[in-house]
Amino acid sequence: METNAGAARLPQVDKILRHPRLVTLQERIRRELIAELTRQRLDQLRFDLSKGKELPDLEAIAQSIALQAERLLKPGLARLINATGVILNTNLGRAPLAESVLKHICEVASGYCNLEFDLDSGKRGERSRQIEALLRILTGCEAALVVNNNAAAVLLVVSTFARDREVIVSRGELIEIGGSFRLPDVIRAAGGNLKEVGTTNRTRLSDFRQAITPNTGLLLRCHRSNFEIVGFTQEVALEELVLLSAESGIPVLEDLGSGALIDLGQLGFAGEPTVQSQLKAGADLVSFSGDKLLGGPQAGIIVGKRPAIERLHKSPLYRALRPDKLTLAALEILLAHYLSPSVEKLVPTVEMASSKASELRARAEAFASKADLCLKHIACAAVATTSAAGGGSLPGKTFSSYGVALDSKVQPNQLAAMLRRNQPPVVAIVKEEQVILDLLTVFQPDEETLLAALIAIDSQLSASH
Ligand SMILES: *Cc1c(COP(=O)(O)O)cnc(C)c1O
Repeated sequence: METNAGAARLPQVDKILRHPRLVTLQERIRRELIAELTRQRLDQLRFDLSKGKELPDLEAIAQSIALQAERLLKPGLARLINATGVILNTNLGRAPLAESVLKHICEVASGYCNLEFDLDSGKRGERSRQIEALLRILTGCEAALVVNNNAAAVLLVVSTFARDREVIVSRGELIEIGGSFRLPDVIRAAGGNLKEVGTTNRTRLSDFRQAITPNTGLLLRCHRSNFEIVGFTQEVALEELVLLSAESGIPVLEDLGSGALIDLGQLGFAGEPTVQSQLKAGADLVSFSGDKLLGGPQAGIIVGKRPAIERLHKSPLYRALRPDKLTLAALEILLAHYLSPSVEKLVPTVEMASSKASELRARAEAFASKADLCLKHIACAAVATTSAAGGGSLPGKTFSSYGVALDSKVQPNQLAAMLRRNQPPVVAIVKEEQVILDLLTVFQPDEETLLAALIAIDSQLSASH
């Protein structure tokens, strides 16, 4: 009864819609959608009333509906400044794309394009032909296929080669990447029967050999992208697994995760196997992400032997997993950059990964002294930091970087929150009661914007004193 009495006091939808702010809003949002938001708001108020809350006045109700509507007009995604020093962070969108790549996406997508049209013959064409040609020269593969991400690549391979059949994997490689990718779950979702062999720290070739049955569909090796196993360990080399594959006729998939196309040892951090080396070792298929160390758009790239790739291509699942023209446009320019002897100047992630500590130090010192001149309530000092590649690349490997430590009267977490609220948002590191801006992942032209953010926060701090 009380609920009904409260509900009776609620204003009518039409009455709310006549509020001047909501009338003006109808120039940008259709009236029936504002009406829908209004009904949703009234439902909420009815619920609040039943819980004994006060009913706001008509003005407040209209204003809150207008605010909610205006939030829908603004995009949810925003460019931000990554001052964490982590080059590949899934939460921050992984690889930033080069200007050249963006230009090509715009060019291709602003009109029609020859996505699946052969301009020579005037007949149907293949959507990833150019990418395949690039991958063949870059990796030495016979053929290649692109899907939406690396999880989709593993899904497609398992589903094609091992639906209702066994997929043999070492217990030391049953990985989880950032919660949403768990290898056992992906294998199950693809219809494969996971057969774990060996132990967490030691797996031998004989473990694989003994596990093979007439119903085995795939031998799977998975790169431990985000952790290391150290101490008393043993693992099966890809070369050994390839020999077993030749004996048994069961194909080998190497899920490489990051997929470096160049030897990162030259850039000062060795340890990440290249795609080429895995193909040379004889893997039938190698899969990797487009947006990890490779530095491109979200994509899953599968390279390998032609018959295996052709089977994947024919799978009905491929039709559901294939990428669109935006991704392919980005990927073909990115891969073309890898033809260049100075790829590190063309691909932002590779450029960051090859930054020299001495240069970062000079940037940090220059930034800190410039900032110190402009700021009254924040003290800045250049500090040495340790950065990581992130995004499931180079586990356990860190490299020296430089950043700017900020010291102010507010708590570090509060200062970090103020940085996040800036336009554009700045994401910093909070470590040991300090806020640090790691310059490794800050594009040099963004330093101006970063300084402006600090100046704005400085004046907020001054106002609150
Ligand atoms: C990151 C990763 C995946 C998942 O790749 P996405 O492109 O994020 O779908 C799968 N396997 C390994 C080994 C990885 O590192």
